[in-house]
Amino acid sequence: MDYSVLAQVYSKLESTPKRLEKTEIISKLLKKTPNDLLEKVIYLLQGTVFPKWDERKIGMSSQSILKTINSSTGATIHAIEKEWATKGDLGTVVESIIKNKKQTTLFSKKLTVTKVFENLMKLSELEGKGTVSKKIQLVTELITSATPLEAKYIARTVIEDLRIGVQDGVLRDAVTWTYFPRIKGINSNQEKAKLVSSMAELKKLNLSNYEALEASSEELAREIYNYFISQIEESYNLTNDFSEVALAAKHNKLHTLKMHVGKPVNPMLAIKAESIEQALEAVGSPLQAEHKLDGFRLQIHKKGKEVKLFTRRLENVTKQFQEIIPIITSHVNADDFILDSELVGVDSKTDMYLSFQNISQRIKRKHHIEKTAEHIKVEINAFDIIYKDGKVLIDLTQEERRKILEKIVKEEKHKIVLTKKLITSDPKEIEEFYKKSLAKGNEGIMLKSLQSKYVPGRRVGGWLKHKPVKETLDLVITGAEWGEGKRAKFLSSFTLSCIDNGKFLEVGKVGTGFKEKDDELSFAELTKILRPKIISEKGKEVKLKPYLVLEINYEELQKSPTYNSGFALRFPRAIRVRLDKSIKNIETLKRIKYYHSQQKK
Ligand code: AMP
Repeated sequence: MDYSVLAQVYSKLESTPKRLEKTEIISKLLKKTPNDLLEKVIYLLQGTVFPKWDERKIGMSSQSILKTINSSTGATIHAIEKEWATKGDLGTVVESIIKNKKQTTLFSKKLTVTKVFENLMKLSELEGKGTVSKKIQLVTELITSATPLEAKYIARTVIEDLRIGVQDGVLRDAVTWTYFPRIKGINSNQEKAKLVSSMAELKKLNLSNYEALEASSEELAREIYNYFISQIEESYNLTNDFSEVALAAKHNKLHTLKMHVGKPVNPMLAIKAESIEQALEAVGSPLQAEHKLDGFRLQIHKKGKEVKLFTRRLENVTKQFQEIIPIITSHVNADDFILDSELVGVDSKTDMYLSFQNISQRIKRKHHIEKTAEHIKVEINAFDIIYKDGKVLIDLTQEERRKILEKIVKEEKHKIVLTKKLITSDPKEIEEFYKKSLAKGNEGIMLKSLQSKYVPGRRVGGWLKHKPVKETLDLVITGAEWGEGKRAKFLSSFTLSCIDNGKFLEVGKVGTGFKEKDDELSFAELTKILRPKIISEKGKEVKLKPYLVLEINYEELQKSPTYNSGFALRFPRAIRVRLDKSIKNIETLKRIKYYHSQQKK
């Protein structure tokens, strides 16, 4: 397949904001993609060549891509930078440079999807001396053979900023539309369709025989559609890899997809409980209450001797927490397993748990890992097990899984313990347990249904969380301003956004709560993290790729035309950096509206 086919698709996707149109465009592409290219095409649609939990990254800085454009087009760095400042996107810059330059030349070689994929793959494999120039060479090779449109998307892929608005939800729908029959009235208006009058009838059909189905009622059509979507979603939550899911769906083998030790599973999530009484009603009684610790979620994978550690965002943090690996191998009695846990910092002098802030610096640490490990000790607080010795345990009940966990974990204080639990039907006992947990410096309690399965990636109601009402929001930084005076080198005054159907909408700017130095909330530290995320600059104003999530305190939410969300925060104050949260976990516009309505009450 020529890369130009993909470039055309990118361009169409970029030009429509409509989700259904995007879904149809991708579905058409997947239909005509040959089997051997399916995985590659799906990764490239996500702007990458790896599943997102993979440690390898394409990783090329904007500076290197500037040099690449220079070496492949002959345009001077100064000219490229100038255009970049006005256009704000290196993809568009390279597109227009090549357009102007190549009017009279013929493109030497046609680029194929495979060629682009392979060169991108090689970028991640380079290490050591001369890496930068080798990377530039690999990308130059692509850009010199590229049409303007192809070059635009190669450049954007290389800097990991594809900007075609394809989120996981669109891809999930597109995979569903491609490999399950279409449904009349929902995603098809095909004449010839197999008539279906119940779910029972549907489940007996060999679906690969039908292009389209017609349900006997609108509700049934919806039910069938949701059923198809959930099949893809569940498979995705197990594997976190749409390429793998699409291949399995194409060959009718979704049921064979399994979680694998070594590949992270989307962790099960919790819903907020309104009160203890409501929780008892919602999850059934008796329930299992547990201390809710203020650390960060850690999924622990062990296969034979090999241990891998993943955060809630599926980042591999094995290197950062080397010191807990021997504890895992010696204190958990099983060969292969996946444990779910909270990793908490402990102050070895006072014996108290530290707050998340203290260990968060260890997550992103790339150098001096051992030194920080000595300073900031951590304790594993295991609360679930989802795989053991060849068996996937997610369909067992909470009660059964906890029993297995209790059997195999040998607890040792400050190394590995099980979360404190209480099984009861008595709201007073739960209240006491909650107070005790808070007194220990924990965040609150979790309230878990004894009967619930482990449902990867979903807030299904099997787990509730109960914590003091706190007026904080998780928002992503989408812009900033260069500071003044002694802060001129640093970004400050950060624009905060929430999310609405994949679009980021601004809710205000925050300039307080930050520290002068030696803190993850210092301007220097934030600037270090955010500088590579700069999309464009105009005067002092900087636009940033949504990446870094801040937890924000505020006095009030007001309706306001100043920001495109329609809301503005009064007196926002940064509390902490949430490296454990991805842009998928930030407040939605819906939540903001809800908080606004609650505050009026
Ligand atoms: P939240 O981040 O407020 O949505 O709360 C859910 C998070 O609480 C989980 O992702 C875990 O990181 C954390 N947590 C702390 N203690 C527990 C526990 N006992 N069971 C489950 N999750 C826990």
